[in-house]
Amino acid sequence: MDDILSAAEEILGPAVRVEANRDWAIFWCPFHNDADRRGQGGRPNFGVHLVKGYWKCLRCGATGGSLNSLRKKLGQEWRPPVSALQPTRPPRPPSQVELLDEAVSEARSVVQRSPAWTYLASRGVSAYTALVYGLGYGIPVPNVHRETVEAAKQSMLVRKDGTWLWAGGVIYADPPTHPTVMNVRYLPEEQLPKGTRTFKPEKNHKTWGLRTQPLGSWRITPATRTVIVLEGLFDLLITAQKIHQLGREADTVAVYTNGASPSAKMHRWFREHAQYEYVLMRDPDPAGVEWALSVSASIRRSGASVRTVLPPDQLDPDEAILSGWWPSGI
Ligand SMILES: [Zn+2]
Repeated sequence: MDDILSAAEEILGPAVRVEANRDWAIFWCPFHNDADRRGQGGRPNFGVHLVKGYWKCLRCGATGGSLNSLRKKLGQEWRPPVSALQPTRPPRPPSQVELLDEAVSEARSVVQRSPAWTYLASRGVSAYTALVYGLGYGIPVPNVHRETVEAAKQSMLVRKDGTWLWAGGVIYADPPTHPTVMNVRYLPEEQLPKGTRTFKPEKNHKTWGLRTQPLGSWRITPATRTVIVLEGLFDLLITAQKIHQLGREADTVAVYTNGASPSAKMHRWFREHAQYEYVLMRDPDPAGVEWALSVSASIRRSGASVRTVLPPDQLDPDEAILSGWWPSGI
C-alpha cells in the first residue's frame, strides 16, 4: 500500500489526502484543469487505489488499471507540478524572541517620541541609522495581546509586577524581521521620566535569545568583501553609520559579537565564513584584548585574513569614530 502511494506521489506529487480506510489516495487530476480550481472551493477528483493501483478521475473520466499505464498515458514529458516537487516542510517554528514581534513593533512605533530618541542623538546615532536598524524604545508595559505577554514571560522579559525588563531602554532586535536575539541598552535613570523603571538593571545592557551568528550580519550580501567586527551595539551603529557616510555599504558590513565572550556558535560562524576579509575594532580594556584574540583565532582557522585595530586615546570604537578616527585601508 505504501509502495503504491509513494510510486503515485512520485508521478503526481504529494497526495492531497489519503483515505486509508478506503484504500484511496486523492490527487488533483493531471488530465484536466483540476488544480486550477484549488482555492476557489475546487476539490481534487483523481483517485489512486492503494492496493490495486488503478486510478480514475471523477470529473473527466480518465481511468486506467495500473500506475504503469498512468505513467504511459501522461507521457515522457510529464513532470509533477512544480509546487508538488518541493517537499512540504512544516513551517519553521517561530523563535521565542520572534513571538515578541508585536511588542517590538510597538517599541519601534514610539521611538521618535521617546527618551531613547534624545539618548540616541547624544550617542551620535542619526535618525537614518536608528531607522535602518529598527531601533525601538522599551515601553514599561506595552499595549499588546495576551499571547505576546505570555511569550514575553516565557522569554523572562516580564517582571512579577508586570513591568517589562526592557523598560527605559533602546531596543534592538536582530535580525530586524523574524528576530532571534533582542538587545536592550538601558538609558541612564536620570534621562527617564520618573517611575519609568521600577527596578535597577544589573548592567547597562541585557540580551534575550540565541546568539548563533554575529549580530548585524543580516546586512551581508554576496557583494560584501570586508566585515568589521565589534563588541557592542553602539560600536556597531556608529560604524555602520560611518560606512554609510563613506558610501561603502556595498562592500563593507559591520557586525558585533554582543559582548566580550562570543558564544561557541558565533565562533563557528567565523570559522565557516572564510570569504571575507575581517577587521576587528577592539575596545581599549583588557577584555577587549581577550576578545580580539579569541575572535581572530576563529577567523584565522577559517583561512580568512584578519587584522585588529585599536582606536586611539583609549577610546571605544564608537567614540573614536565620532571624533573623526577611521582605520586606514577600509
Ligand atoms: Zn480529470
